[in-house]
Amino acid sequence: MGREAPAVFGSVFHKDMPVLVFENGAWQNVRWQDTKAIELSPGSHALHYGSECFEGLKAFRQKDDSIVLFRPDANIARMQQSARLLNLPVPDAEAFHRALVELVARAADDIPDAPGSLYVRPTLVGTDPVIGKAGVGSDSAILYILASPVGDYFKAGAPMKLLVETEHMRCAPHMGRVKCGGNYASALPWTVKARNDYGAHQVLFCPNGDVQETGASNFALINGNEIITKPLTDEFLHGVTRDSMLKMAADMGYQISERNFTVDELRDAVENNGAEAILTGTAAVISSVTAFVIDGQEIEVKNQEKGLALRKAITDIQYGLTEDRYGWLVKIDA
Ligand SMILES: *Cc1c(COP(=O)(O)O)cnc(C)c1O
Repeated sequence: MGREAPAVFGSVFHKDMPVLVFENGAWQNVRWQDTKAIELSPGSHALHYGSECFEGLKAFRQKDDSIVLFRPDANIARMQQSARLLNLPVPDAEAFHRALVELVARAADDIPDAPGSLYVRPTLVGTDPVIGKAGVGSDSAILYILASPVGDYFKAGAPMKLLVETEHMRCAPHMGRVKCGGNYASALPWTVKARNDYGAHQVLFCPNGDVQETGASNFALINGNEIITKPLTDEFLHGVTRDSMLKMAADMGYQISERNFTVDELRDAVENNGAEAILTGTAAVISSVTAFVIDGQEIEVKNQEKGLALRKAITDIQYGLTEDRYGWLVKIDA
């Protein structure tokens, strides 16, 4: 019997969630509670001073019905990094891992068949109930994890038009590698404007011509046999999908160039060399760009084959259609 995904991404949550509380200088034992509501002081640090960060990862139902999580330890490490940069209590990796695994096991019956998945959203929130603490980090926090059955919302071959933004940044440059709501708030004015003015699906942030990433996914240019993407700096989010894609692409024979590149190089490669462009992210998987808007002018991206092959390479591992040669899957006993 096929399990169907809800119509809207992230609109349905598994009924329970694990909650880890940090108080009095220590992480407390996990407790499980209903996902209907959480109780927070209206003075909570996160609500006033943005001490909040999150993660996004997926669990998959494979061909043989086994359930796997994709690279959870990479997301745990990244949330620890975000917590440090936001002066939040750093989650305990082992307790976090156990909570993730148990949540996916409990939600296993909710996981849709391919091409659906279970999107998992850990959220860390600073809870100090003191509005006077604007200049210090929160000493208390909660970490809760939502699980949401999702479909294939960034379908292979769907239109993906990017507005190339050369004036504004996505977020403050020292905060780019923190996966936090504040960075999304910072990017939102440009994303809304790009949609309204140009019908663009995403904004590609390229301050002063330096090609960085979109509001919610990493970006790479595929020019002939070369895959070009920005080297890891503080300015942008270090995606797990980006890292996975680069490893697979190297093994497929691509030359990987983690280097800075400009909008001029991007434009020249697409217009004159048939280059492809892709977005990578847990939600976006590996999605081919179909058009750019540069200086108000629309430029079509004619080729998508290489991006589609990379997408198939990662989803084949996730759905168990090929061997997990990188050791990326954590099997869940459901
Ligand atoms: C989450 C995110 C990504 C993609 O990261 P993945 O680990 O591949 O899901 C890229 N850019 C931003 C701004 C993000 O928030």
